[in-house]
Amino acid sequence: MRQFNIEALVKAVNGNLIHKDVLSRHIQVNNVSIDSRTIENHDIFIPIVGENFDGHDFIKAAYERGAYLSFTEDETKIPPDRCGIHVKDTKQALKDFAMYYLTLFQIPVIAVTGSVGKTSCKEMIASVLSAKFLVHKTRGNFNNEIGLPLTLFKLEDYHQCVVLEMGMNHYGEIHRLSEIAKPDIAVITNIGEAHIENLGSKDGILKAKSEILDFLKDDGLVILNGDDPYLRKLMRKIRFKTVTFGFNKQNDYYIKDYRVLGWEGICAHIASPIERYAIRINTLGKHMLYNVIPGIIIGHYLGMDVSQIETGITKYKPAKMRMNKLLLNRGIVVINDAYNASVDSMRSAMETLAALDTDGRKVAILGDMFEMGDHAKMAHEQVGEIASKHPLDLLVCVGKDAKYIYESGLAHGIDNLRIRYYPSKEKLMNDLEDVLKEKDTIIVKASRGMYLENVIEAIKEAT
Ligand code: ATP
Ligand code: MG
Repeated sequence: MRQFNIEALVKAVNGNLIHKDVLSRHIQVNNVSIDSRTIENHDIFIPIVGENFDGHDFIKAAYERGAYLSFTEDETKIPPDRCGIHVKDTKQALKDFAMYYLTLFQIPVIAVTGSVGKTSCKEMIASVLSAKFLVHKTRGNFNNEIGLPLTLFKLEDYHQCVVLEMGMNHYGEIHRLSEIAKPDIAVITNIGEAHIENLGSKDGILKAKSEILDFLKDDGLVILNGDDPYLRKLMRKIRFKTVTFGFNKQNDYYIKDYRVLGWEGICAHIASPIERYAIRINTLGKHMLYNVIPGIIIGHYLGMDVSQIETGITKYKPAKMRMNKLLLNRGIVVINDAYNASVDSMRSAMETLAALDTDGRKVAILGDMFEMGDHAKMAHEQVGEIASKHPLDLLVCVGKDAKYIYESGLAHGIDNLRIRYYPSKEKLMNDLEDVLKEKDTIIVKASRGMYLENVIEAIKEAT
């Protein structure tokens, strides 16, 4: 961790030093953590008040593990022989601290938001940039008001740029993340229907995602998916330098042609105002092309040449539970896409499965999509309709709302021998012998809360 001045930190978080006289001055701070169990010598502990636990109960333990300082909302929690920082709200202090810490670095900050594809796009940007730069990036899905600050504390002196994922459920969240990060480059992948429950409409979703621009530097760059009508609308309204991408030729960067190589990934040519790129990505799904182009745009913007960018793209590895291929016994192949689901990503999953060359049947096991509110019934029905338009040999619907996928699938003409409904994943898991056949290729997908990876474990055991 880059070293900083404690007084400057105290000022940045609007705090007070408690027991200042016992503060050791020449300490190398190693890390900042909100979990006392991970605290090591010379770390800073920030207790967070959560639904089930109050981090303040672990301040003593954090000092015992070697914490240098702890933040606190309650002065009495700091042992008399230790120094602490008293603040009004530790969650806010975590953000203020991260904001201050980032000011110690003069490196490009790249922020990615959107309804689907944030993690994939962020990973791709990082892959491209790492062909020239030492890149720091959001680990996994640490994309919220806790995860983003914790990501920033891992910035080291040698990093040359940082790629951050910004996620949200409500208005204001991306605004606050943007305030911390003050991006130089902002990417919006698309405007879908995820989290529509809290935001009311797609215009609402557009508004919430656009908050990423609230603290964009004045000379910053905006990168938008120009095939998305909502983002086109946004483009007409903003004053920043903007670059668009997509399949449509009107975009600044567009996919000129592409070839799906089945299990081998995808090849494509990308045209841009200056260069042309011949790329190969080792992941499934045509939709991934959308997630590649922001990396190309940013690479070019930061001075990389064509071959460096193309090399960076080949280094991309799909994140966990996103289109991960597993080879099982009896020639069964599972595509684990159980990380998350929305109508758009359900569609892309079915398109991907349909495009694959398989020896046996193509099977989709689709579960509930959460956080749809009043849109839940309609969204699940849409998935049933989309399924009816793809050449699936078997559609398995599992979960409460998945009933609507099932009913709509039947209503749109799926033969009742090719579709099944299970109200719970346990019921499906008990019936796997009957559902599966040799050489099946099975895609498994639902919202995170369904934990549909349990079904994959059961398939492994059953084969
Ligand atoms: P989260 O909101 O959970 O953080 P995310 O926006 O980070 O999600 P990813 O984790 O990259 O998105 O991908 C989630 C799902 O969406 C995966 O199933 C992935 O295959 C699919 N997906 C990714 N990009 C697109 C896209 N451009 N269009 C449609 N589906 C996509
Ligand atoms: Mg993500």
